[in-house]
Amino acid sequence: MTKVIGLTGGIGSGKSTVSRMLETLGATVIDADRITREVQAPGGAVLERIAESFGTGVLDASGALDREALGAIVFRDAEARRRLNAIVHPAVGAEMARRIEEARGAGDPLVVVDVPLLLETGRAAGFEAVVVVYCRESQQIERQIAREGYTREEALRRVRAQLSIEEKRGRADHVIDNSGSLAETERQVRELFEGLVVER
Ligand code: ATP
Repeated sequence: MTKVIGLTGGIGSGKSTVSRMLETLGATVIDADRITREVQAPGGAVLERIAESFGTGVLDASGALDREALGAIVFRDAEARRRLNAIVHPAVGAEMARRIEEARGAGDPLVVVDVPLLLETGRAAGFEAVVVVYCRESQQIERQIAREGYTREEALRRVRAQLSIEEKRGRADHVIDNSGSLAETERQVRELFEGLVVER
């Protein structure tokens, strides 16, 4: 039977890195952020409804979503944010469910659903287990500075906008500690994969 687990962590803690390792081992990875971009793309499930709800000012000249314009609206307005989420979340959820069913139908042994805000949004209940990719907060900040070129203050603000990584670690069924070398992370990922797939 297909096992379906949720993968999460803090911003920059290594979710994509661990997802790629799991995929290499044979897991089917479903990426919530990618699905969100897909449903919002031209021809996707929700772009028209977003434009109806927020006006054509949230579209760019080519008719694609202008993320900055939409972001400027929802950033300051909780009601607008709820309205956007009410359009986007069900479409993302439906597409995720469709892909999970497809994987079940194909008999895939392990499906890993990468959801950055899994623990913030209370969606953990839908999964057989929750894996948290952990590193220290100071590393989340350093890795973001290195990768995105953020200032320390910007990086800190982004990290602090989420549930703390220590809190997330405490809620995990399995923790991948990505505060060491990639080789150490890989060893843990292999152990997790084997445990999950063989345990069945
Ligand atoms: P985001 O929340 O921004 O999507 P993420 O949780 O998916 O990030 P990754 O993109 O996997 O995190 O990793 C963040 C950055 O840290 C990347 O530049 C990655 O190469 C680097 N990184 C990941 N793991 C390690 C590690 N063990 N040692 C050093 N650098 C690492």
